[in-house]
Amino acid sequence: MAFESLSDKLQNVFKKLKGKGRLTEADVKAALKEVKMALLEADVNFKVVKQFTKSVEERAVGTDVMNSLTPGQMVIKIVNEEMIKLMGSETTTLELNPRNELTIIMMAGLQGAGKTTTIAKLAGQLKVKNYSPLLVACDVYRPAAIKQLQINGEKQGVPVFSMGDGHSPVNIAKAAVEHAQKNGQNLILIDTAGRLHIDENMMDELTAIKEAVPVKQTLLVVDAMTGQDAVNVASTFNEKVGVDGIIITKMDGDTRGGAALSIRAVTGKPILYVGMGEKLSDLEQFYPDRMASRILGMGDILSLIDKVQAEVDEEKARDMERKLRKADFDFNDFLDQFAQLRKMGNIGDLMGMIPGMGSKMKGMEMPDDKSIKRIESIILSMTAQERSHPDIINPSRKRRIAAGAGVEVAEVNRLMKQFDQSKKMMKQMSGMMGKKSKRGLFN
Ligand code: GDP
Repeated sequence: MAFESLSDKLQNVFKKLKGKGRLTEADVKAALKEVKMALLEADVNFKVVKQFTKSVEERAVGTDVMNSLTPGQMVIKIVNEEMIKLMGSETTTLELNPRNELTIIMMAGLQGAGKTTTIAKLAGQLKVKNYSPLLVACDVYRPAAIKQLQINGEKQGVPVFSMGDGHSPVNIAKAAVEHAQKNGQNLILIDTAGRLHIDENMMDELTAIKEAVPVKQTLLVVDAMTGQDAVNVASTFNEKVGVDGIIITKMDGDTRGGAALSIRAVTGKPILYVGMGEKLSDLEQFYPDRMASRILGMGDILSLIDKVQAEVDEEKARDMERKLRKADFDFNDFLDQFAQLRKMGNIGDLMGMIPGMGSKMKGMEMPDDKSIKRIESIILSMTAQERSHPDIINPSRKRRIAAGAGVEVAEVNRLMKQFDQSKKMMKQMSGMMGKKSKRGLFN
C-alpha cells in the first residue's frame, strides 16, 4: 500500500507532539521540519511541500493553538485539513451527460500507465449504474493493445469497437459514435495510443480526436510508481491537450505516494479515481479526506465500509457502520465480520484501513485463515449471553471457553484484550467521525 513510510514518519512526529502538554513555537517549527523531510522523502513536489508547511505553520503558530488544551491534537488537525486541501478538498466525480444522451470519454496516458485496464474498470462501474458503454480501440500502433482491450471488454461484458490498425484514430472515433448511436449505447470510452515518453504526435492525435468528436471528459491515467514524472506528464498533457480529471493507478504498490499528494496542486486538475490493483474491480473513487486520514494513520474506515458494502448486502453494511460509530459491537459482530472479511479476500489490505492498525500490523503476521478459525472456535464456545455481554466473562468462564475451543486460557485472554482494544479505538474514532456521518455513505 502506498504511503506506508510517510505515514509511519508522520505518526512519529505526532506522537512527540502529543506527548507534550504545552507547545512552544520552537516545538511546532521542529515538528514541521520533520514533516517537511517526510514529505520530500515521499517524493512530493518540493514547491508543494514548501507551500504546505508554510500554510500549516501560519495556522499552527497562532495563539489559539498554543493556548489550547491539546495543542498537539490541534496541530495534527491542521495538518489533516491542509492535506485534504492539497488533494482538492471536495471529491470530484466524473461528469456524464444524462443517460438519454451520448457521453464520450477519452482516456490518455503514457504506455504502461494502466489505460486499457482502467477503461475496463471504469466501464464495469458505469455499467452497474445503468450506462451502456462501448469501448473504442484507437491505439492503432500496437495490435496487442487492441487485443487487450477486447479481452478486458469481454471480461466486463462490455462491447469493443475496433477497426484494426488500418484506419486513423480520428476516423475510428467518428465511426464509433455512429456505431453507438445505431446500437443504443450511451457511453463511449476511447482508448488512445500511449508512447513511452511524451511526444508531439501523441498530443496532436489526442487533440485531433477531441476536435472530431464531442469529448465530454478527457481523463489522464498516470502511474503512481513514477512519482514526480507522473506529475510532469500531467502538467504537459494538461497544457497541450487539456485534461478534465486524473486517474492514478498502482496505488496498491510500494509507491511513496508523492504523485497523489502533488498532482492536484501542480496541475489544478482533480484526481477522480485511484487504481488499487490489477483486478478489474480495483478502482476506487478518490476522496481527499479519506486519503489524508489514511496517510496520517487515522485509517480509512469510510472506504472500508464502501468495500464491505460492495460485497455484502446494504442492511448489513449499515448495521456495521452504526456499530463501528458507536463502538457497541459484541462477539456476535466479531464472528459476522470475520465471515464477511473472508469473503472479501485480502484481510491485510482491509486491516490497513482500520484506524491505528496500519502501523500496528506492520511486522506482525496477518491473521490467516487458520488463526481466524481458532478465534471463531473460541467465540463459538461462548454462550449466547457471553457473546452479547462480554463483560460477564470471568476467569472460570474463560477456563470453560478455552476447554470448549481446545485452546489455552491465554489465547482467550488475548482475544478479550484485542476485543477491548478494538472497542477503544472505535470510540476514539467516533468523535472524529461525527461530522462525516451527515454525508450519505451509501449513495
Ligand atoms: P496501458 O499501456 O496504459 O494501456 O496500460 P495497461 O492497462 O496495459 O497496464 C499496464 C500494467 O499495469 C498491466 O500489467 C496492468 O495489469 C497493470 N495495472 C494497471 N492498473 C493497475 C493498478 O491499479 N494496480 C496494479 N498493481 N497494477 C495495475
